[in-house]
Amino acid sequence: MVNIEKKLVNYIDGQWVLPDRNNYTAVVNPATGQTITKVPLSTENDVQAAVKSAKKAQKEWALVPAPQRAELLYRVGSMMKERKEHLSRLLTMENGKVLEEARGEVQEGIDMAFYMAGEGRRLFGQTTPSELKNKFAMSVRAPVGVVGIITPWNFPIAIATWKSFPAIVAGNAVIWKPATETPIMAYELAKIFEEAGLPNGVLNVVFGSGSDVGEAMVADDTIRVISFTGSNETGKNIASKCGMKLKKVSLEMGGKNAVIVMDDADLSLAVEGILWSAFGTSGQRCTACSRVIVHKDVKEELTERLMTEMEKLTVGNGLDETVKVGPIINAGALEKIDRYVQIGRQEGAVLLAGGYTLHEDKEDAGYYYVPTLFTDVDRTMRIAKEEIFGPVVSLIEVESLEEAVEINNEVSYGLSSSIFTQNVNQVFAAQRDLDTGIVYVNAGTIGAEIHLPFGGTKGTGNGHRDSGLAALDVFTEWKSVYVDFSGKLQRAQIDTEQ
Ligand code: NAD
Repeated sequence: MVNIEKKLVNYIDGQWVLPDRNNYTAVVNPATGQTITKVPLSTENDVQAAVKSAKKAQKEWALVPAPQRAELLYRVGSMMKERKEHLSRLLTMENGKVLEEARGEVQEGIDMAFYMAGEGRRLFGQTTPSELKNKFAMSVRAPVGVVGIITPWNFPIAIATWKSFPAIVAGNAVIWKPATETPIMAYELAKIFEEAGLPNGVLNVVFGSGSDVGEAMVADDTIRVISFTGSNETGKNIASKCGMKLKKVSLEMGGKNAVIVMDDADLSLAVEGILWSAFGTSGQRCTACSRVIVHKDVKEELTERLMTEMEKLTVGNGLDETVKVGPIINAGALEKIDRYVQIGRQEGAVLLAGGYTLHEDKEDAGYYYVPTLFTDVDRTMRIAKEEIFGPVVSLIEVESLEEAVEINNEVSYGLSSSIFTQNVNQVFAAQRDLDTGIVYVNAGTIGAEIHLPFGGTKGTGNGHRDSGLAALDVFTEWKSVYVDFSGKLQRAQIDTEQ
């Protein structure tokens, strides 16, 4: 039995505080349609309180030696490990993903804690010779100050750790706005930070809507970085506002990811990879496979095998360990998925499996969509180009690797891609030519590891990366330091020939 608070409150300046306005919205378990808690709809005043606390705390935090800041992350990682099962069950209840995947997501957060804690003893800069005598030159990473992170519902804890852990170890103070659909992970993670001894104000959690809390964060001048993960539309909106303020903004957004299956592929492996990356998290991953670009010579066999395996996928409440595909986050998302399936039919694609919701006649029965497969999909169709964010896959036939790569690259997103082939020449050509931030060979489109950069090209991002060392670039400024110990004024570029 997992206990959940009846109402959540904000975490500001190390205190659990009521929101400015007595306004809450329900948090619904997507597997049952039942309300499991309520989350504040905070206002700009709550954001201002968090900014005030973060500004004060950051000055002190930045002076704590980085290895000591890292000790705190080690404690956070250890506590997450101890509470892994508890956190995973709560995650399944608020987000719907099956327990096995929830455990994987929590593990990702634990890995990130230990990895970023290691950075406390690195945070490497560079030393380099000066062009002048008796002069020393180096570059160091400096914290940016107060940073804002805005996260989506589909990875409520992992994405938050990708952003907040590097920010904290680098000496910043954080204001975090989680998605209102999945606030429980934020609440639990803040509790862990509190118990681990994080100084008041270094992490602040303000619950609420994007239009109130998110926009107030974007508008605030003290917050010098916005690190956002979510939809393309919201990301562009945030980026344009940050642009006018010259505020650093890191965006991780949507995807239209493809698995390419060549004629020499191990088809059993390819089917496993497609199932895992298309229907894991019910297709609600930014890296989910929603296109299978298949060589004409193996299309028929792959399709048959895929359909056979899809029939075995059980759909239901993710707390049931036999279930493979959990619910969709809410009724709106369910409708969007079904709308795309209707569009696919109208466009002339052939529906081979799924294409309908479950339990729609029952009230409070959760939001479920059956794994869906289209064939005869033309590359120009909307279902082949737009992000659906559900368990819907389109099969597109090709005659060559060149054609497959071209189709992979012609969408507006560039997050993840994968190729199944035994041919080493094709492997190297594909990893060079696929225009995505992540490429997998003989694996599906999901499965990122936290010590590598995570993100994408084109409409998926704006050149930054979460996770890996690249995350530090978002939350630090490079400072170049010159120390002249010659005792006289030496002029760079002028006195070099003496
Ligand atoms: P969303 O854009 O609706 O919301 C994301 C966050 O932004 C939420 O916290 C939301 O409250 C906030 N927000 C909304 N409007 C805002 C505004 N005007 N100003 C500031 N903040 C605002 O996205 P979602 O539906 O929660 O998530 C699904 C999307 O996220 C998909 O497109 C998916 O591909 C993407 N995603 C991308 C990655 C990645 O790393 N590339 C990872 C996970 C999800």
